[in-house]
Amino acid sequence: MGMSHQIDALNLGFGPPGLRFALRNVTRTVNADWFNNGGPGTPQQDAMKASLRQGGPSVLNIYSVNFSGTWSSLLGYSTFPQTYTSAPTDDGIVILFTTLPGGPLASYNQGKTGVHETGHWVGLYHTFQGSCFEPGDYVADTQPEATPSEGCMEGRATCVVGDVLEGEVDPIREFAFNF
Ligand SMILES: [Zn+2]
Repeated sequence: MGMSHQIDALNLGFGPPGLRFALRNVTRTVNADWFNNGGPGTPQQDAMKASLRQGGPSVLNIYSVNFSGTWSSLLGYSTFPQTYTSAPTDDGIVILFTTLPGGPLASYNQGKTGVHETGHWVGLYHTFQGSCFEPGDYVADTQPEATPSEGCMEGRATCVVGDVLEGEVDPIREFAFNF
């Protein structure tokens, strides 16, 4: 379990579109309040990032924390690139530490939470963004879906005929690890 394997997962996930990540450095900070209570929009998150964030807009800052309380079901969250200019210190992703590759969260310990949040960090939306309608997730070759799903719901088709973006079954395989 470690950050170097998380970077490997990013490079696997973002290999097809040609994004490359190299581990720059890892710092470790002991702060139980930031670690346990650093959910989105919290003062703990703000303090953590203000103290720890490094680099400019091309440097991905990954904070691995333990969401608890209100945020105990959260796997991670991210900023989008369009917010960098107005809030550079906020830039980065925050992920549940147990999702790092080899971590103890069964079925979620391959680093894909980090890949998912990094997708947002480079500007990608969920495939259910905008439901079934244009412009959807703003990516022309991903099939839209009306709502989020969990697991691998083969044959699920939430964008039925009649919607603007109609047709095929919901996406379950459009992910580089599965190719
Ligand atoms: Zn997301």
